[in-house]
Amino acid sequence: MIIKVAQSAGFCFGVQRAVEGVLAWAKANKGKSIKVYGMLIHNSYVIDKLKELGVEVVEDIEKICKEDIIFIRSHGVSKEEYVEIEKRADKVYDFTCPYVKKIHEIVMEHSENGYDIIVVGDMNHPEVKGIVGHVSNNRKCFVVDGIEKVKEAINQIEGKAAIVCQTTFDSKKWTSIKDFLESHTNYKVFDTICKATINRQKEAAELAQHVDIMLVVGDKKSSNTNKLYQLLKEIKPTFFIEKVEDLDSIKLDSSAKSIGVTAGASTSPEQIEEVVKHLEEKFNEMNLKDFERLIDRSFLTVQRGEVVKGRIIKVEEDYVLVDIGYKAEGIIYKDEVIKNGNVNLKDLFKIGETIEAVVIKESDEEGNVVLSKYRADVLHGFEELLSRYENKEPVRVVVKSIKEKSVVCDFRGTNVYVPISQWGEDVQTSDIGKIFEIEITDVNKEKKIAFGSRKSLLKQKEEERFIKQIESLDFSREYEGIVVEIKQKGIVVNFENLCGFVPASEVGYLKKGADLKKLFEIGEKVKVKILDIDKNKKQIYLSIKKTQDDEWAKRIKNLYLGMLVDCEVTKVLSFGLVVWITEHDVDGFVHISNIPLGYNQRPHNVYKVGDSLKAKVIEIDEEKRRVALSLKDLHEEENIDTEHNEDFVITLADFVKNIKLEQ
Ligand code: SF4
Repeated sequence: MIIKVAQSAGFCFGVQRAVEGVLAWAKANKGKSIKVYGMLIHNSYVIDKLKELGVEVVEDIEKICKEDIIFIRSHGVSKEEYVEIEKRADKVYDFTCPYVKKIHEIVMEHSENGYDIIVVGDMNHPEVKGIVGHVSNNRKCFVVDGIEKVKEAINQIEGKAAIVCQTTFDSKKWTSIKDFLESHTNYKVFDTICKATINRQKEAAELAQHVDIMLVVGDKKSSNTNKLYQLLKEIKPTFFIEKVEDLDSIKLDSSAKSIGVTAGASTSPEQIEEVVKHLEEKFNEMNLKDFERLIDRSFLTVQRGEVVKGRIIKVEEDYVLVDIGYKAEGIIYKDEVIKNGNVNLKDLFKIGETIEAVVIKESDEEGNVVLSKYRADVLHGFEELLSRYENKEPVRVVVKSIKEKSVVCDFRGTNVYVPISQWGEDVQTSDIGKIFEIEITDVNKEKKIAFGSRKSLLKQKEEERFIKQIESLDFSREYEGIVVEIKQKGIVVNFENLCGFVPASEVGYLKKGADLKKLFEIGEKVKVKILDIDKNKKQIYLSIKKTQDDEWAKRIKNLYLGMLVDCEVTKVLSFGLVVWITEHDVDGFVHISNIPLGYNQRPHNVYKVGDSLKAKVIEIDEEKRRVALSLKDLHEEENIDTEHNEDFVITLADFVKNIKLEQ
C-alpha cells in the first residue's frame, strides 16, 4: 500500500501561529493562569495537550480575572469583547489570524465611512460574530449565506455597502454570491475568503485523483475539515477519522493499492504523523518521502540573511513562490529579483526550477518567508559568470538599460555591457526587462563587470538553423517560393524561410539569353525543386525547370535528321524563312543558304506568309531550342540515314527511326 500525504494537510498558518504561540507561552510560564478566550481550535487532541500544560478555555468573559493571561484565538473577537477583556485581564495576547484582522479593518473603516456591511458566512461561526462586532453601531449589518438572503439585504440597503466573506466559507457559494453582487450592484466587494482553505481543497482533490482511497483526519466539529470530507467523497471512497484509534474501525478495500491522507486546518502535524505511522505499520509500506517531508518541515527553521535553496512552484506577474522545504513557502517579489531592473518573471522562471535566495524576512503577513534572489545572486553570480566565460558557455541576461554605446545587462547581480554594434539587431527600448542569451567576451575581475556579444551567438544560431533546415529539405519535393530578386544570371527565391538561387539555365525551358526581367516579377509565386546545396557557401541552388514539363522536347521527340516535314511560312525574312512545322506544332527556320533561289533572288521574291512547303530537318539544337530545315535536296531524304550516318547526333528519335528502317 502506498501512502501519500497531501502537502498542505493540517494546521493552516493562522491556527499554527495561535497554537504554537499558546503552547510556547504555557511551557515558559508554568503555574501562571493562562486562558484562551473561546475554543482555540476544534481539536480535542490539542485542547487536551493544552490542558496538561494548565491552559484553560474560558467561554464566559465574566470569568476573566486580573491575574489571567488571556489569548485570543485565530477567529478573533468583537471590538467590544476585546475592550472588555483588556479591562479585565492583566495581559492579553491577540492571536487573531492576520487574514481575519484584515476583515475587521475593512468593515470598521467602511462602516465608519457610511457603508452598510454584508458579511457572507455562517452567523453562528465565532469568526463571523467577531466581524459583525467591528461594524460601526450606526450602520446596518447583514449576515447572509445564500443569494436569497443577499437579495433581502439589498432591499434594505439604501446607500452604499461593502461586502466581506468569512475566511472559511464555501468557495463555490462565495463565487456565485460575489458574481451576483458585482453584476447587480455597485457595492464594494472584498474577496476575503482564505486561500489556505481553497488550496488545501484543491490539493486534496488532486491527490484523490491519484489514489484509491482518501482519509481525512480532523475533528468532526471543525467546519473546514467537514467541507474537505464532503468534497473528497464525491471523488473517491473517503473515510473521516478523528484519531488514530478510529482507523481500526474502518474497513479499507483490500484491493486498494494507495491511500491519500489529508487533514483540516485544525489538525496538528503530530496527529497526521500518528495516523501515517499506524497506516505504515498496518500496511508495512509507506511513501517514506512524503512522511519524511512532513516531519522535516515541522522542525526546519529559517533565519534572516540565510541562503536557502528551493524549487519554484508558482510564477505570477509580481512574485514567485518557492518551496524551500519549510512549513511556509518562500516568496520573491519582483523588485527582489533584479536590482534596479524590470523583468518579466514568467520569462525568467520556470516551475520546477531550483533557485537560491536570501531570507530577508522570516514571515510576512500571510506567513510566507520573504526572499531576495538578487542578494543571493551577488554572492555567487560573478563566480558563475567567470566560469561560463572560461568554458565559453553562453549566459542568459536581463536587459537593464540602454545607453548610447551599449546595452547594460544583468547576470545574477553582475553588470554585463554589450556594445550596440554587438547586439546583432536593432536595439529597442522594449528590450528592457527581457531576457537574452549572449556570450561573454571579456571580464574585468577588479571591477567585477563583464562584456559580451550577442551578434556572434545570433550568427552561430542562424548557421545552426540553416544546417538544420537544409537537412530537412527533400530533393524530390516541389516547394512553393516567392521571387525576391531578379538578376542577370538568375533569380532569388524565398521558400520555407530560406533563400535560394535559381540560375538562368534553370528558370525554365527558355531560349538561351532570355531576359529574366521580362519573364518574372518580384513577388511572383513560383514552384521550385532543390538542385544543389553548398553547405560551405550556405547557398541553395534551385530549379524551376525541374518542376515543368518540357513541352518543346515533347513536340520534337519524333523529329529526326533528314526527315521530310510539311511546313507553313509564318515570317519571311531577308536571310531566311520562319516556318511552322504543322504536324509537330513547333517553329523551324530555313536559312537563306538552304533555300534554292535564283540569281539575285531573296526569299521574299519567291515566298510569302501562308505558303505551304515541304522541308527537310537538318539540325535539332536542344540547347538553343531550334530546328533547322532545308528546302534543298529533298529527294535525298530516303537515303540520308545510310549515307551520312556518322554526321548525325544520335537521339532517341533517331534510334527509333533506325529500328523502323531496319524493319
Ligand atoms: S483565515 Fe485562513 S489562515 Fe487564518 S485561521 Fe482562518 S483558515 Fe487559517
